Amino acid sequence: LVEIKNLHKSFGGNHVLRGIDFTVEQGEVVCVIGPSGSGKSTLLRCVNLLEVPQEGQVFVRGEEITDPDVHLDAARAGIGMVFQQFNLFPHLNVLKNCTVAQTTVLRRKPEEADKVARANLERVGLSEKVEAFPAQLSGGQQQRVAIARALSMDPALMLFDEPTSALDPELVGDVLTVMRKLALEGMTMLVVTHEMAFAREVADRVVFMDGGVIVEQGPPAEVIGNPREERTKLFLRRVL
Ligand code: ATP
Ligand code: MG
Repeated sequence: LVEIKNLHKSFGGNHVLRGIDFTVEQGEVVCVIGPSGSGKSTLLRCVNLLEVPQEGQVFVRGEEITDPDVHLDAARAGIGMVFQQFNLFPHLNVLKNCTVAQTTVLRRKPEEADKVARANLERVGLSEKVEAFPAQLSGGQQQRVAIARALSMDPALMLFDEPTSALDPELVGDVLTVMRKLALEGMTMLVVTHEMAFAREVADRVVFMDGGVIVEQGPPAEVIGNPREERTKLFLRRVL
């Protein structure tokens, strides 16, 4: 579903991604772990072209989104993204947050957008909150709205960038529960996370990044449970 070939990204003289190759299969859950500054967010942002790489290619559903001629809105519509900061529209209620992109980008009729949004808000356990404004919700609820909003675009792929790291500890569980459910439903997910227990339990594959390269990848039992590379061991010793 996603194929990344020899991806390089620099900011000025800072060579952040130094030749990344990897793929995500349909239905696969891949967790990306690694130290701060290793390029995890940059990698995710290259997958939906929030950052434009200097070299390399990204294919999503067989379409090269790094092709300069690609229609960006159309390519991005198939990719949901959830950030650490929830980035909801503060002046719109929960339902509206989940319908605007459907009506503007996908050109759905308001009634249909409404129906889709309500179904996805139910999926994340927030049916009661459709009329609420973001400021009236807890961080965990806001993040679940962000997930429902992304799902309402019927994405083929969901990207998550540390979706729980801005949350109070007691709110983390609700968001991880929603993500676990999505994974079980077969959603293809690429998740940057510091939640090692989640990665261990939910990921089909764990990718360890350091210094802009993939140092090691494989099933969680191997990469987290029994890492081969010294750099992976060092990192895990610090976070586990
Ligand atoms: P963290 O775990 O702290 O989120 P990360 O692995 O996600 O780290 P990135 O955010 O990808 O790391 O950043 C990698 C490097 O790229 C850092 O040195 C960062 O300063 C730099 N960087 C990221 N985005 C930009 C930008 N828009 N402009 C300039 N430099 C950037
Ligand atoms: Mg990051």
